Amino acid sequence: MAEETIFTKIINGDIPADIVYQDELCICIKDINPQAPTHVLVIPRQPIPRLVDANEEDKALLGHLMISVGTIAKQLGVEDAFRVLINNGEDAGQTVFHLHLHILANKKFSEDSLAMS
Ligand code: AMP
Repeated sequence: MAEETIFTKIINGDIPADIVYQDELCICIKDINPQAPTHVLVIPRQPIPRLVDANEEDKALLGHLMISVGTIAKQLGVEDAFRVLINNGEDAGQTVFHLHLHILANKKFSEDSLAMS
C-alpha cells in the first residue's frame, strides 16, 4: 500500500489545516505556502497519487472535483477570475503525491506564466 501522504493525514484529522470546504468526496484547504492571495487545494479523500494514475473508475470523482472547484470559487468570491492547476510528476513540480487541484486567484496572471523552462 502506498505511503500515507500529508493530505491523507489532514483528511484523517491527524494534522491540522485551514479547511475552507469539504464534502463526502473531497476537502479543500488553504495552501500553507500561498503563491497568490487566494490559493487553496482541492483534494479527493481517495488518494490517487498523480492525475495520470486516475482511470475510468475515477471519472465521477474527477467530475466532482471540477464541479467543486466552481462551488469553492463562488464561496471564496473569485468565480470571475481564477486559475486551476494540477502538477503531475516531480519534474512538473508535484511535491505531494496525492492528487490535488490548486485554485489560484486575486493575482494578476501574466500571459506567459504557464511557460516551462
Ligand atoms: P504540488 O507542488 O502541486 O504537489 O503542491 C503541493 C502543495 O501543498 C504546495 O503548494 C504546498 O505549499 C502545499 N502543502 C504542503 N503541505 C501542506 C499543508 N500541511 N497544509 C497546506 N498545504 C500544504
